[in-house]
Amino acid sequence: MPVESATREKPSSDLRGLVVALDVDNTLLHLGADTYARTVREFLALHDLGVPSDDAVRAYEALRAGGGALARLGLGNPLHLRGHPHALAALCLTAATNPRLLRDLDLDGTEQVARGRVLADLFSLHRATRTGSIEVRVAAERQVRHFCRYDRRAEHFCVEVRRVAALPLMQSWSRQYATIEDRLEPDVDVRTPLQTLISRGATLVAISEGLLSVQTEKLARRGLLDLFAGCVLATETAAAAPGAEALHARLDDALEERHEAAPEQVRVWWYFRDLLEMWAWKSPWFYARCLHAATADSSHPQAALQALKLADAQAWRGRPLRLVMIGDRHDKDIQPLLDLFGPGIGLKVRLRQGKYAHLDPEMQLPPERRPDYTFSNWDELGDFLLNRLPHVPVVPVESPPDILPRGEISKDDIATGLRSDLEVVRRLAAAARTMLSWTRQ
Ligand SMILES: [Mg+2]
Repeated sequence: MPVESATREKPSSDLRGLVVALDVDNTLLHLGADTYARTVREFLALHDLGVPSDDAVRAYEALRAGGGALARLGLGNPLHLRGHPHALAALCLTAATNPRLLRDLDLDGTEQVARGRVLADLFSLHRATRTGSIEVRVAAERQVRHFCRYDRRAEHFCVEVRRVAALPLMQSWSRQYATIEDRLEPDVDVRTPLQTLISRGATLVAISEGLLSVQTEKLARRGLLDLFAGCVLATETAAAAPGAEALHARLDDALEERHEAAPEQVRVWWYFRDLLEMWAWKSPWFYARCLHAATADSSHPQAALQALKLADAQAWRGRPLRLVMIGDRHDKDIQPLLDLFGPGIGLKVRLRQGKYAHLDPEMQLPPERRPDYTFSNWDELGDFLLNRLPHVPVVPVESPPDILPRGEISKDDIATGLRSDLEVVRRLAAAARTMLSWTRQ
């Protein structure tokens, strides 16, 4: 076929120095447009909840959206761990009405509404920690922590979720999720074009929101992990800077009043915890961290990301990074890079496949905010990568990108951070100070 003959004609190193970054879900994993919806529907239909199918799906999706709140109770977060038995158990505890299922799970159906109120309270308290000044968010954080730790309804809910989730019925139900997803995935050859990119000198990285173990396991299941050895860059890794656990533990102690801490001290810990949070999603600053990692150690960017390695201005001048970013979502894979660099730097490619393929936000945007290329399947994308990409100029990133929003950083916060006895706070403050110095170089 034309793709293969063109491949043979090219010299082996025509893409040397190019970093090709690929999103994972709905990009490397080429899920069909309705695969996710069909997976959830088939998965939930394995046992009759006693409610209409649409209501079951809505309740499940509400639990996934509130996954961060469930994690506060020490439960699995279904946002990243789809089909987790804790999510299934919470679903049954709040939405199931089928008497037989309730009997099998030893659940009292008359308590469903009360359990639903516990969840609603938890979600509402969790949301309140996301808005307002640091002082307002710290106060909201104290409230939600108090609720999770001391509210007897929350405690009872958590015990019941764990009991139900451990039942053989729920364990086997949960295991079916990955099986259904695998069966519904279309058979598309992603590996051949990627292998060819590597053989021509390009470096591949996978950039993903979520847990490193989950994303690497998905790539392994699709037989792609060896192409990304040491190059899977997950938000979880970026947000878990060395020493971050000590910072979270110190905040825990202060917020739950196990140890006394001055309000100013809590404020600075919270401030630096916020910096970690900014890397926990596909923000422009998370992408900046990934690009620093790829520049600081192009062979093992995953390790560089974990170590919070930053490449200095000299490194960027010596080896400017030429980036091609490929992803299925404008808001997660294209827009953050535009926010970071503005238009014209690197190459932004949207692959409109999967559950977000129908979203067409770029058509409402001015041309400079749109992707450079858009394709609707891997046949088109593969043809572009193999035959056209070598001829497309990719403007390099010439200077180190910001790893944090500048407006959020004050010299006082940095100075206070550098005086802290917490290693991670000192490192973050030093990283912020380094970043502010880049423009002077
Ligand atoms: Mg995606």
